[in-house]
Amino acid sequence: MITYSPEQIAEACEGHLVKNNDSVVARLLIDSRSVYDAAESLFIALSGNKHDGHQFLHQLVRKGVRNFVVRKGRIPADVAEEANWIEVNNPVRALQQIGAWHRSRFQIPVLGITGSNGKTIVKEWITQMMGSDVFIARSPRSYNSQIGVPFSVWHLNETSELGIFEAGISMPGEMRLLQEIIRPTIGLFTTLGQAHQENFSSLEEKLEEKMVLFKEVDTILYDCDQALVDERMGTMFPEKELLTWGRAEKATLQLLSEDEVNDCKHLMLRWGVDTFEVVIPYTDQVSVENTLPVVLFMLYQGYSPEQIIEKIGGLVPVAMRMEQKVGINNNLVINDTYNADFTSLEVALDFLVQQSRKKGVKRTVILSDLLQTGIPDYDLYPLVATLINEKQIDRLVGVGPAMVRYASHFHLPSSFYETTEEMLEALSTFHFRGEAILVKGSRKYSFERIVSRLELQRHATVMEINLDAMVHNLNRYRRSLGPDTRLLAMVKAFSYGSGSYEIAAALQYQNVDYLGVAFADEGVELRRAGIATPIIVMNPEEKSFLQMLDYNLEPEIYGFNVLEAFDAVARAEASAVIPVHIKVDTGMNRMGFLEHEIDELADRLRRMPSLRVKSVFSHLAGSDDQAHDAFTFQQIKKFKTICDRLKKELDTEFMMHILNSAGIERFPEARFDMARLGIGLYGFGPGKIEDLRNVVTLKSYISHIKPVPGFETIGYGRVGMVKRDSRIGVVPVGYADGLNRHLSNGVGKMMVNGRLAPIVGNICMDMCMIDLTDIQAEEGDEVIVFGDDYPLTNLARQLETIPYEILTSISRRVTRVYYKE
Ligand SMILES: *Cc1c(COP(=O)(O)O)cnc(C)c1O
Repeated sequence: MITYSPEQIAEACEGHLVKNNDSVVARLLIDSRSVYDAAESLFIALSGNKHDGHQFLHQLVRKGVRNFVVRKGRIPADVAEEANWIEVNNPVRALQQIGAWHRSRFQIPVLGITGSNGKTIVKEWITQMMGSDVFIARSPRSYNSQIGVPFSVWHLNETSELGIFEAGISMPGEMRLLQEIIRPTIGLFTTLGQAHQENFSSLEEKLEEKMVLFKEVDTILYDCDQALVDERMGTMFPEKELLTWGRAEKATLQLLSEDEVNDCKHLMLRWGVDTFEVVIPYTDQVSVENTLPVVLFMLYQGYSPEQIIEKIGGLVPVAMRMEQKVGINNNLVINDTYNADFTSLEVALDFLVQQSRKKGVKRTVILSDLLQTGIPDYDLYPLVATLINEKQIDRLVGVGPAMVRYASHFHLPSSFYETTEEMLEALSTFHFRGEAILVKGSRKYSFERIVSRLELQRHATVMEINLDAMVHNLNRYRRSLGPDTRLLAMVKAFSYGSGSYEIAAALQYQNVDYLGVAFADEGVELRRAGIATPIIVMNPEEKSFLQMLDYNLEPEIYGFNVLEAFDAVARAEASAVIPVHIKVDTGMNRMGFLEHEIDELADRLRRMPSLRVKSVFSHLAGSDDQAHDAFTFQQIKKFKTICDRLKKELDTEFMMHILNSAGIERFPEARFDMARLGIGLYGFGPGKIEDLRNVVTLKSYISHIKPVPGFETIGYGRVGMVKRDSRIGVVPVGYADGLNRHLSNGVGKMMVNGRLAPIVGNICMDMCMIDLTDIQAEEGDEVIVFGDDYPLTNLARQLETIPYEILTSISRRVTRVYYKE
């Protein structure tokens, strides 16, 4: 492990050092929640639009952190002597300078990857292909931003032989900073697409910004089929070595043909005068596009076609996702069995901790030897032990010779096995019960066998929730709101069908300011599970007022009756002033005080010292539809008038909020102090924000296929007559799962192996039938009811309803599976 003195760090970031001890720095920390090895961490206090690292300085000193980079004048006086402080003007800049300085100490080849798509996959695939031959330092996941890049290069150490780092930008001027940190010696440009186009006047402008990464490289790899990219590379970098891939004849690595055979693609490639065929275990076009740069880079690195052919069949998906499953005996199983290296272990442990904050849940980790880390075992395993010890894990099961050898470093209840087989034999003796279990192993250890023993396989219809996509959407809306507007996330109705605790926990982790629930029960459930974020209850019922006080739930007050009733309870029972949220009706005509009631409301509130108006809000009736814009503006105007009057009458300040998801996108002038995000979290907006991601997938499988002769009918009521000899698939999802019966008989379709299969006959309670006559499919194949490639909006259109109704109708018996990419 490389360590630096505080003096070196201060010099690197041109900061002013106030030194109080001799501790050294081995790692960087910017997230106060993910501390481990505190004594050797350097905390850099960044101020983002929602977090201010300076708020956590005391807490971190208490946890044992001894080195800090802070903004000038922000050293906390009372703990000043307990740590070393480096004062700087701009901590983000300091982080970048520290990264750049660390990078400058290594004279090894560094590949810098940029482009609109595919950066992470190309990076991970190169690592999968070459990682057993050279020690590679790379960006963890897709850490490619102004903050992620300095972190990424920090992974370089004495053993590194090759660096691979991604650079992603969203604004003009950003790439120069990333180039100075990564200082690539080889460049790779994946694709040019529309992402982040909003900040650039043209594609050319964005391309030229990205090309800044390559200004000092000797060699650039890119796709010469992209005409604009090809043309610009030639004119901007005539002196550099340009290696290309593509279908064009001039490509250095030419794709001659592609063929699909048994779920694999056979790609015929030409390199110089050699032609050769590689077979990849994927058939989708994106995988083909991502394979070409990987092969080209390897050829450039001196691999022979034969070596590449041999290695390429072992590529595994870079989805690399961590899945959270419901396990037997009330366990929760986090499945992360694609790889195990140190970086991904940190990420997985954080996920485990985040998802197991629920009170009384124990944390168990099943971990294999870590491979391809580039760190010698005698350094690595003590580090792993430190990490596990500090994450408050309750029990460890280690698998593999190295885990066995370093067993004595782990100070927690643990057991160790040489092989996965031995572990599986012992599995029944563990009596896992009510635990959160992280199963993390290198591919080689086939830990999926452990997962399949632990998981519950009851109802094979599952609703998958992509937590990363949700966080992406959250951040898109936050970006659009700007730094001065807080965010309330609506988690009513089981978070739009996607789950209660799990979603709230993920949102809490992202520091949303408020959560909103419909009924007190929902709020109580979240509090009992350990959610501490402030919660507003939109429909507080009188019978639950006491409970709301007990659980610190803040009511929406929408009329005089609720106001009087709640005040009475607060006056009698509460020891402190209770925050309330006043709803005003500006045109929805549903709930809330009307304009002419405001004086009366102010009068009464003035006489209620137990209540404090924390916010005043209203709800828009047609924020998603241009046709109603005049009306929406009228609502906003009325809202302002009412709030102004209340502020004057009450002589107090309160937060104002009126925007829902569509409103955030379409009415930036009405952001006020907070906005309430609901459906947008799931990727459904009016379209102004273009790069929202789908979050929810409902999938099942084909349980059975049967041939049905022409002119027979399928299912109840004999409505579905087939007009020809047909192959009919049975899918175990029915109206009791929330599959609306109006989708029967050809109205709805499901996706099977990339093709759409119409639903035939009436949908039954627990199953439905689909027509597979024209589709290659087998029993056991996956069936997508809706998801990334077959959007829920199609279903909504067929049913003449809105995505909200479909999401919230998926029955609770459908298992929810949460995963991170
Ligand atoms: C449900 C709800 C929202 C969120 O609406 P979306 O359209 O899902 O963004 C906001 N405010 C109130 C009062 C709500 O009931």
